[in-house]
Amino acid sequence: MEEQLIPPETLTSFHNFITSPNCKTILALVGAGLSSASGLPTFRGSGGYWRHYNSIDLATPDAFERDPGLVWQFYSYRRHMALMAQPNAGHQTLAQLSHNDKINFLTITQNVDGLSQRANHDSRKLIELHGSLFCLKCTNFTCSYSDPANFKDPLTDSLDASSLVHDKGNTEDLPFLSDDKLPHCPACETGLLRPGVVWFGESLPWVSVDKTDEFIMRNHVDLILVVGTSGVAWPAASYVDIVKNQGGKVAVFNIERDDTDTESWQFIGDCSKILPVALDPLIDQVNVRSEVQ
Ligand SMILES: [Zn+2]
Repeated sequence: MEEQLIPPETLTSFHNFITSPNCKTILALVGAGLSSASGLPTFRGSGGYWRHYNSIDLATPDAFERDPGLVWQFYSYRRHMALMAQPNAGHQTLAQLSHNDKINFLTITQNVDGLSQRANHDSRKLIELHGSLFCLKCTNFTCSYSDPANFKDPLTDSLDASSLVHDKGNTEDLPFLSDDKLPHCPACETGLLRPGVVWFGESLPWVSVDKTDEFIMRNHVDLILVVGTSGVAWPAASYVDIVKNQGGKVAVFNIERDDTDTESWQFIGDCSKILPVALDPLIDQVNVRSEVQ
């Protein structure tokens, strides 16, 4: 059924390339469009409201300094919603590709929802460029504690977000939460924990950036998959440019066609439906079935 959405000549040409000896190294760059198919809003950019709060006023170091209880309620809601959501067939397809030993593969995701991780993506081949809702970090300047995968929900009794709603029309202020109601560091015992995501005004974690650069520079990337994000916005654009300059190919999976782009394969539609079809020749069918169960 979905095959009909993809022009047959596009699919044939793409399948011929990914099954050829010329396609050994693949880089996937993943954005919000992949997780929107799992029903998750991203709260970034325009329309980034949670209740009557603008997410830009909640996702900054200043906001956390000013009112950590409010910021933690926002992130508790997002943790809860991400845990209620399920990885979709697009996450699972990339996860399966990460277990294909014949392909040198890396996924860089801008999503913080942990869905690729929960789809059983090989963690050595997954970079969460903007961090994760499920990473916790100590805010004490002298303490380096971090917990990379904490799925506890709620984190404290006061942060039970299961009854909170997202509705922008909800103008009711949330209750003020003092620091003693918030999660504290188990190592130093004094520092507040914060979500391990990259906030507005913060730089990307250098470890992630380094690992990405190393992958691109050390390998000749034959193909970059731009999934659920625009190939012309930063940081995708810079990675796409590097791969193109190396002579690599580009495939875009997004809901909108870019008419100015005549060189890339463009797969237009819901990436959770199109990715499995497009990457089918590289996926072990037996493993796919066992994953889905
Ligand atoms: Zn600490």
